[in-house]
Amino acid sequence: MLKAKKYTFWFCTGSQDLYGDECLAHVAEHARQIVEELNRSGRLPFEVVWKPTLITSELIRRTFNEANMDESCAGVITWMHTFSPAKSWILGLQEYRKPLLHLHTQFNREIPYATIDMDFMNENQSAHGDREYGHIFSRLGMERKVVVGYWADADVQEKIAAWMRTAVGVIESSHIRVMRIADNMRNVAVTEGDKVEAQLTFGWEVDAYPVNEAAEAVAAVSESDINALVDEYYDTYQILTEGRDAAEFRRHVAVQAGIEIGLERFLEEKNYQAIVTHFGDLGVLKQLPGLAIQRLMEKGYGFGAEGDWKTAAMVRVMKLMTSGMKDAKGTSFMEDYTYNLVAGKEGILEAHMLEVCPTIADGPVTIKAQPLSMGNREDPARLVFTAKEGPAIATSLIDLGDRFRLIINSVNCKKTEKPMPKLPVATAFWTPEPNLKVGAEAWILAGGAHHTAFSYDLTAEQMGDWADAMGIEAVYIDKDTTIRQLKNELRWNQAVYRK
Ligand code: MN
Repeated sequence: MLKAKKYTFWFCTGSQDLYGDECLAHVAEHARQIVEELNRSGRLPFEVVWKPTLITSELIRRTFNEANMDESCAGVITWMHTFSPAKSWILGLQEYRKPLLHLHTQFNREIPYATIDMDFMNENQSAHGDREYGHIFSRLGMERKVVVGYWADADVQEKIAAWMRTAVGVIESSHIRVMRIADNMRNVAVTEGDKVEAQLTFGWEVDAYPVNEAAEAVAAVSESDINALVDEYYDTYQILTEGRDAAEFRRHVAVQAGIEIGLERFLEEKNYQAIVTHFGDLGVLKQLPGLAIQRLMEKGYGFGAEGDWKTAAMVRVMKLMTSGMKDAKGTSFMEDYTYNLVAGKEGILEAHMLEVCPTIADGPVTIKAQPLSMGNREDPARLVFTAKEGPAIATSLIDLGDRFRLIINSVNCKKTEKPMPKLPVATAFWTPEPNLKVGAEAWILAGGAHHTAFSYDLTAEQMGDWADAMGIEAVYIDKDTTIRQLKNELRWNQAVYRK
């Protein structure tokens, strides 16, 4: 169900009418060439659309308002080829409401030493014009992303590509609707939050439905639809009955197939893109949704367990940001479970009762049906696998009462030293940066949750930029983190972000 919208990004070049028609013709031509090359590079996830050079405050204001109104436009990339007096940008920028990238580049890579004269200097003065332009953002206190470097270089294009995905996360945030078929787990603090404030800040709609309404949708799924999906499961995954009767095992799996189909229909009918459940609040559902939720996450739905709607929305945001990504390694709901504290092998074993997204799986995925130690339902079927290796990020959005804070930890995923044959859940294993002790101490000081939204395919910078765009506090925990600095940062942020 998760389809990447065909977003576009506008490319707007700033100048003024002081330089004469010939110069402005060059400006337009250079910008067109940059746009063509960016689109041809194959590095950008979305198309860049060239716009006529902005030389007056009227045109600037009109163009930004058109960008606001154009539903396919997810952001504007701006670049000052020449000098463009920044007062003429004030009204347009004040009325602009989407993400903005200030690309600080210039058309030529090298100074043309043999031929350079004052005409060339006047035509190619991004170093000059982009400073005037940047100033007005700082004066207005506006968020923008600044990318510096030669436009044809791979690293600059990769930065533009990464920002485009952040911009989509910003634009899409206001379309996210989270269905709660269970409340927050009793007495749990960190997964709680102010839903009205979340809607004001992020645009999320978070609504509750009685679990039995969802269960009715599950009960309405036909036998033949269930059988067809179970056949698909048996074709797709390995089956490990572990001594259970084959027919009985299949019946356990079929319950999850019915839940997958029923919940997805219920979500689609009511237009929700994320869901929360609770093992202690299942109504007439026969099993805790396990395999069913894993498959919905794989399709792009956000998910949070035990009523955790903040993490559900974050998983959805991050899945949207990575949608359509080539060679994506996966994005999932996750939970810090247990440690390995052996010197040199420190790490956190990540899992959940059942609900880990198979997009992060490395190698074969197996279906098992095992008892759940909590709740009072029949043994749920679930997908079991281990996760990929490599760098990733774990994020936690918390509500501090007067504001939201996004904590972003860079982590390194590894294989566990030995297999865990008796553990019937999907797992990841990672060492947080800068190391387990400092990383975990920093996470705890920052108030991070045990639930996270996790991705191999996004960077800490992208999520920090997303938080900036949302106007909330971002706390990075990475190789540069020291506890002394982090404690000061948390103190200072208290002053900066308090409402
Ligand atoms: Mn949990």
